[in-house]
Amino acid sequence: MASSKKEAQNILEVAIVGAGVSGLGMGIQLLKAGETNFKIFDKGHDVGGTWRDNTYPGCGCDVKSSLYSYSFEPWAEWSNSYAKQGEIYKYLRHCATKYGVYPYIQFNTSITGSAFDEQAGLWNITTADGKTIQARNVVTAVGPFSAPKVAEFKGAEKFKGKTVHTAAWDHSVELEGKRVGLIGTGATAVQVGPAIADKVKNLVVFQRTANWIMPRPDRNIEEAEKALNRKTPLNMKMNRLGVYWFNELTAPFLILKYDMFKAQPEKMASSYLARKVKDPELRKKLTPTFKFGCKRVLVSSDWYPTMQKEHVHLETNAIDCITEKGIRTADGVEHELDVIIYATGYEVRHTGSPIDAKGIGGASLNDKWKDGSEAYQGISTAGFPNLYFLVGPFTGPGHTSVIAYAEAQIGYVIQAIKLRQKRKLKAISVKPEVEQKFVNTMDFRSEHTVWKSGCASWYLSPNGRNNTLYPGLNAEYRMRIARFNPAEYVLTASNGKTVKPKVTDHISTGLMAIKAA
Ligand code: NAP
Repeated sequence: MASSKKEAQNILEVAIVGAGVSGLGMGIQLLKAGETNFKIFDKGHDVGGTWRDNTYPGCGCDVKSSLYSYSFEPWAEWSNSYAKQGEIYKYLRHCATKYGVYPYIQFNTSITGSAFDEQAGLWNITTADGKTIQARNVVTAVGPFSAPKVAEFKGAEKFKGKTVHTAAWDHSVELEGKRVGLIGTGATAVQVGPAIADKVKNLVVFQRTANWIMPRPDRNIEEAEKALNRKTPLNMKMNRLGVYWFNELTAPFLILKYDMFKAQPEKMASSYLARKVKDPELRKKLTPTFKFGCKRVLVSSDWYPTMQKEHVHLETNAIDCITEKGIRTADGVEHELDVIIYATGYEVRHTGSPIDAKGIGGASLNDKWKDGSEAYQGISTAGFPNLYFLVGPFTGPGHTSVIAYAEAQIGYVIQAIKLRQKRKLKAISVKPEVEQKFVNTMDFRSEHTVWKSGCASWYLSPNGRNNTLYPGLNAEYRMRIARFNPAEYVLTASNGKTVKPKVTDHISTGLMAIKAA
């Protein structure tokens, strides 16, 4: 991957937007492939993305760390089988340091727009401080969880106490001995609730929907095991493989809507609830009314015990309004509070472009995606050459680690970038009919998923369509994108003419796929 010295000073080979798990992974793999003419732009002050920004008490990952880590960088230092935010953030900084990515990152830089120059085959990228950067290829790696969703309640501005959203935790807010309200019972709430319960005077949890919960088989990793892992990375690789395939086996139960895949997990989760919660009234409140997997299945061993603490109250009456003193529910009760915690999730983007992009003929990606984002393999969209998305449309993880998707996509994008360099192409753009066929497959498959079985979740766009999660196994997706197939793309030569892929192009992408496997 050689770029000429002159170009290296002016034009980036690759501009990456976002230094979270996927953007950082992209930077690492570019360096491994010998490409140094790239830059990662991030609006924050460090790598880590969501793991840098989410610092609420109890924040951690509900995917085992052995899988929620890069496949090429197993880590012997995890303290638990399920890592907490601080350790994941530390791990990502460790990776950025070890692989020498920091010098390639420009922090505190928000990308505000990008426009494709067809004559030059370049993207002109603008930053919030008015600068323009030129790049041959752009990779967006912005992730779905960067904007907190602040649920709007009548009277919210009147509240005299403190308000905090989990995604922008304010560490100056005192919880010790306070009366605290927690709005939400999703993946975040089940982490923050148990983490603060013993500090506060009393905790009122406002639940709109009860979720399916499975116990979290967490355990401490002792020094002896860490030492073994340091000495024998193979041990960690085998562990990862075991967790990966276990998750893959659970996929049909979490993804498909058919009763044959629902009966057993619902029985297991119901029996876990019955074992942990003896009070029938509380148990009823905690029993979900939708199919297992329709919303994200939560993994927590301390949510049910927390709900049974003397000073914790699970409120299932709807929130009517927020008052000066606290929260009033639909039954007319005013819950007096000192602090309100919003664990109400994120504004997950279903429509519009992750960065404002103008492609061929000035076409706007925001317009193209106004009714829903779509991309071939979740990675590229017709009319927007040399632009790639990591963890883009249709490729969120329903049952496993997001890193398993991101790593496969990074390999695919690198093949495309290398092919472009080898053939000195001006542009590589997916064929519209290829993209449409893929989108049709995703829509068809989504009809068989439990996500569309009648509950509301961030998985679905407002019109009820799934363009968020991959409706299949990760292993199948990886095979699908293992090789970048140039025949599926329009290749534009430096003279502006469309050219066909050569046999050698197929061979070289095939060899790269084999090497990466
Ligand atoms: P979420 O799943 O969207 O949950 C938001 C919660 O707030 C839900 O209980 C929701 O109720 C409630 N809510 C929202 N608006 C409300 C309103 N107006 N009135 C009352 N309740 C309201 O958000 P999240 O818990 O932050 O999780 C989002 C995603 O982040 C997860 O699915 C997961 O992918 C990721 N995450 C991952 C981890 C991890 O361990 N890897 C940890 C945390 C988060 P309804 O259910 O009724 O809508």
